[in-house]
Amino acid sequence: MRDDTCIFCKIAAGEIPSKTLYEDGEFRVILDLGPATKGHALILPKNHYRNLFELPQDQAEKAIVLAKKMALQMRDKLHCDGFNLVQNNEEVAGQTVFHFHMHLIPRYKGDGQKIGWKPGKPEEAELEAVRKEIAGEEP
Ligand code: 5GP
Ligand code: ZN
Repeated sequence: MRDDTCIFCKIAAGEIPSKTLYEDGEFRVILDLGPATKGHALILPKNHYRNLFELPQDQAEKAIVLAKKMALQMRDKLHCDGFNLVQNNEEVAGQTVFHFHMHLIPRYKGDGQKIGWKPGKPEEAELEAVRKEIAGEEP
């Protein structure tokens, strides 16, 4: 389960050096080379999955458990004030490396970073229509 053209496959396998924070048989956690804040890290599965849509259930479960463990460790060691989990899927959503990864972003008061979106203002009827659409109910 590997893509020889994928840089994260090579990093996860240890063939390209990285600042590794954690490693087990299935995952490697590395520092991001373009960090949003001090400690910004990435969880990489060692197997190649393009993104969340392709990630097997067991890998998804293990990734979120690992994210929690790393969040607690960063809060303990870096004394961050908060934490963002970010996970981009496909180009339209900001994914630039097409090997599943989860961003671990420690947040500090006054760090000047912004992770967000422009909120909409839907009417109740619009929300209900979307709810039905996603739930697969008749409009
Ligand atoms: P995406 O935009 O796909 O969610 O995030 C890709 C992330 O990977 C970016 O934050 C970028 O800084 C990081 N990145 C890209 N190439 C490398 C690399 O070779 N090594 C490391 N450690 N991070 C990388
Ligand atoms: Zn890969």
